[in-house]
Amino acid sequence: MARKVERIVWHTAAHGRNGVAFDTTAAQIDQWHRERGWSEIGYNVVIRFNGAIEKGRDPDKIPAGVAGINETTYHICFSGHGDIAPLTPQQMESGIQHTIEMLERYGLKERFLAEPDALIVMGHREVNELVRRGLAPTPTSKTCPGRLVDMDLVRQQIRERLQNTSPPYVYERVAAGQLLAGLRQVYTVAQQLQLSDDLLAELNAFRKQPEIDAIIQRYRQESGG
Ligand SMILES: [Zn+2]
Repeated sequence: MARKVERIVWHTAAHGRNGVAFDTTAAQIDQWHRERGWSEIGYNVVIRFNGAIEKGRDPDKIPAGVAGINETTYHICFSGHGDIAPLTPQQMESGIQHTIEMLERYGLKERFLAEPDALIVMGHREVNELVRRGLAPTPTSKTCPGRLVDMDLVRQQIRERLQNTSPPYVYERVAAGQLLAGLRQVYTVAQQLQLSDDLLAELNAFRKQPEIDAIIQRYRQESGG
Protein backbone atom coordinates (compact mmCIF):
# COMPACT_ATOMS: atom_id res chain seq x y z
CA MET A 1 0.00 0.00 0.00
CA ALA A 2 1.21 3.51 -0.81
CA ARG A 3 2.58 5.62 2.00
CA LYS A 4 0.74 8.70 3.19
CA VAL A 5 2.87 11.53 1.78
CA GLU A 6 2.28 15.08 2.99
CA ARG A 7 5.13 17.03 1.39
CA ILE A 8 7.33 17.00 -1.73
CA VAL A 9 10.90 18.07 -0.91
CA TRP A 10 13.48 19.46 -3.36
CA HIS A 11 17.21 18.76 -2.87
CA THR A 12 20.52 19.43 -4.60
CA ALA A 13 23.17 16.77 -5.02
CA ALA A 14 25.59 19.54 -3.84
CA HIS A 15 28.06 18.07 -6.32
CA GLY A 16 30.60 20.48 -7.81
CA ARG A 17 34.10 21.87 -7.54
CA ASN A 18 35.88 25.16 -8.35
CA GLY A 19 32.67 26.86 -9.38
CA VAL A 20 31.55 24.05 -11.69
CA ALA A 21 28.44 22.00 -10.96
CA PHE A 22 28.45 18.33 -12.03
CA ASP A 23 25.68 16.38 -13.75
CA THR A 24 25.36 13.81 -10.97
CA THR A 25 23.76 10.43 -11.71
CA ALA A 26 21.42 8.49 -9.44
CA ALA A 27 24.04 5.71 -9.46
CA GLN A 28 26.65 8.08 -7.99
CA ILE A 29 24.32 9.25 -5.23
CA ASP A 30 23.36 5.62 -4.56
CA GLN A 31 27.06 4.85 -4.07
CA TRP A 32 27.61 7.84 -1.71
CA HIS A 33 24.63 6.86 0.40
CA ARG A 34 25.72 3.20 0.61
CA GLU A 35 29.16 4.44 1.71
CA ARG A 36 27.36 6.19 4.57
CA GLY A 37 26.00 2.82 5.57
CA TRP A 38 22.50 3.38 4.14
CA SER A 39 20.70 0.54 2.37
CA GLU A 40 20.55 2.51 -0.91
CA ILE A 41 20.02 6.01 -2.34
CA GLY A 42 17.83 8.07 0.01
CA TYR A 43 15.97 10.14 -2.61
CA ASN A 44 13.02 8.92 -4.67
CA VAL A 45 14.22 10.43 -7.96
CA VAL A 46 17.20 12.31 -9.37
CA ILE A 47 16.71 14.90 -12.14
CA ARG A 48 19.69 15.36 -14.48
CA PHE A 49 20.80 18.55 -16.29
CA ASN A 50 18.86 17.49 -19.42
CA GLY A 51 15.66 17.01 -17.38
CA ALA A 52 15.82 13.20 -17.46
CA ILE A 53 14.37 11.58 -14.35
CA GLU A 54 16.36 8.70 -12.86
CA LYS A 55 14.66 6.47 -10.33
CA GLY A 56 15.97 6.30 -6.79
CA ARG A 57 14.39 4.62 -3.82
CA ASP A 58 10.99 2.99 -4.40
CA PRO A 59 8.47 5.66 -3.29
CA ASP A 60 6.49 3.07 -1.31
CA LYS A 61 9.52 2.60 0.95
CA ILE A 62 10.44 5.21 3.54
CA PRO A 63 13.07 7.50 1.96
CA ALA A 64 16.05 9.20 3.59
CA GLY A 65 15.93 12.88 2.72
CA VAL A 66 15.13 15.03 5.77
CA ALA A 67 15.76 13.72 9.28
CA GLY A 68 12.59 13.38 11.35
CA ILE A 69 9.99 13.69 8.56
CA ASN A 70 10.98 10.94 6.11
CA GLU A 71 7.88 8.83 6.70
CA THR A 72 5.59 11.52 5.25
CA THR A 73 7.77 13.07 2.55
CA TYR A 74 8.77 12.44 -1.10
CA HIS A 75 12.25 13.49 -2.21
CA ILE A 76 13.42 14.91 -5.53
CA CYS A 77 17.17 15.51 -5.89
CA PHE A 78 18.60 17.70 -8.68
CA SER A 79 22.00 16.91 -10.15
CA GLY A 80 24.55 19.69 -9.72
CA HIS A 81 25.08 22.16 -6.90
CA GLY A 82 22.43 24.76 -6.07
CA ASP A 83 24.97 27.06 -4.40
CA ILE A 84 27.11 27.14 -7.56
CA ALA A 85 24.59 27.20 -10.41
CA PRO A 86 20.81 27.48 -10.69
CA LEU A 87 18.82 24.52 -11.99
CA THR A 88 18.98 24.19 -15.78
CA PRO A 89 15.72 25.18 -17.56
CA GLN A 90 15.21 21.48 -18.35
CA GLN A 91 15.65 20.55 -14.68
CA MET A 92 13.19 23.25 -13.62
CA GLU A 93 10.60 22.12 -16.19
CA SER A 94 11.01 18.44 -15.36
CA GLY A 95 11.03 19.16 -11.60
CA ILE A 96 7.83 21.19 -11.79
CA GLN A 97 6.09 18.53 -13.90
CA HIS A 98 7.18 15.70 -11.63
CA THR A 99 6.15 17.65 -8.53
CA ILE A 100 2.69 18.23 -10.02
CA GLU A 101 2.38 14.51 -10.79
CA MET A 102 3.28 13.68 -7.20
CA LEU A 103 0.86 16.29 -5.82
CA GLU A 104 -1.83 14.50 -7.82
CA ARG A 105 -0.69 10.97 -6.91
CA TYR A 106 -0.70 11.74 -3.20
CA GLY A 107 -3.89 13.83 -3.23
CA LEU A 108 -2.10 17.04 -2.21
CA LYS A 109 -3.14 19.35 -5.03
CA GLU A 110 -6.12 20.97 -3.31
CA ARG A 111 -4.21 21.60 -0.09
CA PHE A 112 -1.24 22.98 -2.02
CA LEU A 113 -3.54 25.50 -3.73
CA ALA A 114 -5.64 26.30 -0.66
CA GLU A 115 -2.77 26.77 1.80
CA PRO A 116 0.08 28.64 0.07
CA ASP A 117 2.18 28.80 3.26
CA ALA A 118 1.80 25.15 4.26
CA LEU A 119 5.09 24.11 2.58
CA ILE A 120 3.45 21.16 0.80
CA VAL A 121 6.23 21.72 -1.75
CA MET A 122 9.41 22.73 0.07
CA GLY A 123 13.16 22.96 -0.16
CA HIS A 124 15.17 20.86 2.28
CA ARG A 125 16.36 24.03 4.08
CA GLU A 126 12.75 25.00 4.81
CA VAL A 127 12.54 22.19 7.36
CA ASN A 128 13.76 24.89 9.75
CA GLU A 129 10.43 26.66 9.26
CA LEU A 130 8.62 23.39 10.01
CA VAL A 131 10.70 23.05 13.19
CA ARG A 132 9.71 26.60 14.17
CA ARG A 133 6.04 25.62 13.69
CA GLY A 134 6.50 22.45 15.73
CA LEU A 135 5.93 20.22 12.66
CA ALA A 136 9.43 18.69 12.41
CA PRO A 137 11.94 17.75 15.11
CA THR A 138 15.35 18.36 13.55
CA PRO A 139 16.69 21.62 12.02
CA THR A 140 19.33 21.70 9.28
CA SER A 141 22.31 23.95 8.56
CA LYS A 142 22.14 23.09 4.83
CA THR A 143 21.20 25.57 2.09
CA CYS A 144 19.70 22.65 0.12
CA PRO A 145 18.39 22.76 -2.65
CA GLY A 146 20.86 25.65 -2.87
CA ARG A 147 21.02 29.43 -2.52
CA LEU A 148 20.30 29.81 -6.25
CA VAL A 149 17.01 27.90 -6.05
CA ASP A 150 14.14 30.20 -5.07
CA MET A 151 11.45 27.95 -3.59
CA ASP A 152 8.84 30.74 -3.52
CA LEU A 153 9.28 31.09 -7.27
CA VAL A 154 9.05 27.30 -7.71
CA ARG A 155 5.78 27.20 -5.75
CA GLN A 156 4.42 30.17 -7.73
CA GLN A 157 5.19 28.46 -11.04
CA ILE A 158 3.52 25.24 -9.90
CA ARG A 159 0.48 27.20 -8.74
CA GLU A 160 0.17 29.01 -12.09
CA ARG A 161 0.57 25.71 -13.95
CA LEU A 162 -2.18 24.08 -11.90
CA GLN A 163 -4.56 27.01 -12.29
CA ASN A 164 -4.02 27.46 -16.04
CA THR A 165 -4.80 23.93 -17.10
CA SER A 166 -7.20 23.83 -20.00
CA PRO A 167 -10.74 22.72 -19.09
CA PRO A 168 -11.46 18.97 -19.06
CA TYR A 169 -13.82 19.04 -22.02
CA VAL A 170 -13.88 19.91 -25.71
CA TYR A 171 -16.35 22.66 -26.57
CA GLU A 172 -18.50 21.62 -29.48
CA ARG A 173 -21.46 23.83 -30.33
CA VAL A 174 -24.05 21.27 -31.41
CA ALA A 175 -23.23 19.01 -28.46
CA ALA A 176 -23.43 22.00 -26.10
CA GLY A 177 -26.93 22.76 -27.42
CA GLN A 178 -27.94 19.13 -26.88
CA LEU A 179 -26.57 19.26 -23.34
CA LEU A 180 -28.70 22.32 -22.55
CA ALA A 181 -31.82 20.80 -24.16
CA GLY A 182 -31.20 17.51 -22.37
CA LEU A 183 -30.88 19.23 -19.00
CA ARG A 184 -34.15 21.13 -19.59
CA GLN A 185 -35.85 17.86 -20.40
CA VAL A 186 -34.48 16.23 -17.26
CA TYR A 187 -35.86 19.12 -15.15
CA THR A 188 -39.27 18.80 -16.81
CA VAL A 189 -39.36 15.05 -16.22
CA ALA A 190 -38.13 15.52 -12.65
CA GLN A 191 -41.14 17.78 -11.95
CA GLN A 192 -43.57 15.30 -13.49
CA LEU A 193 -42.10 12.54 -11.35
CA GLN A 194 -42.27 14.83 -8.29
CA LEU A 195 -38.72 13.95 -7.33
CA SER A 196 -37.65 14.84 -3.82
CA ASP A 197 -35.85 18.10 -3.03
CA ASP A 198 -32.69 16.12 -2.31
CA LEU A 199 -32.69 14.61 -5.78
CA LEU A 200 -33.41 17.99 -7.37
CA ALA A 201 -30.53 19.47 -5.37
CA GLU A 202 -28.22 16.85 -6.83
CA LEU A 203 -29.46 17.69 -10.28
CA ASN A 204 -28.74 21.37 -9.62
CA ALA A 205 -25.30 20.51 -8.28
CA PHE A 206 -24.53 18.77 -11.56
CA ARG A 207 -25.86 21.74 -13.54
CA LYS A 208 -23.62 24.04 -11.46
CA GLN A 209 -20.40 22.05 -11.92
CA PRO A 210 -17.89 24.61 -13.27
CA GLU A 211 -17.32 22.70 -16.53
CA ILE A 212 -21.03 22.17 -17.24
CA ASP A 213 -21.80 25.76 -16.30
CA ALA A 214 -19.01 27.05 -18.56
CA ILE A 215 -20.31 25.05 -21.53
CA ILE A 216 -23.86 26.34 -21.03
CA GLN A 217 -22.78 29.96 -20.51
CA ARG A 218 -20.73 29.88 -23.68
CA TYR A 219 -23.54 28.30 -25.68
CA ARG A 220 -25.98 30.95 -24.47
CA GLN A 221 -23.57 33.79 -25.26
CA GLU A 222 -22.92 32.50 -28.75
CA SER A 223 -26.66 31.97 -29.34
CA GLY A 224 -27.39 35.56 -28.29
CA GLY A 225 -28.82 34.90 -24.83
ZN1 LIG B 1 18.80 18.10 0.85
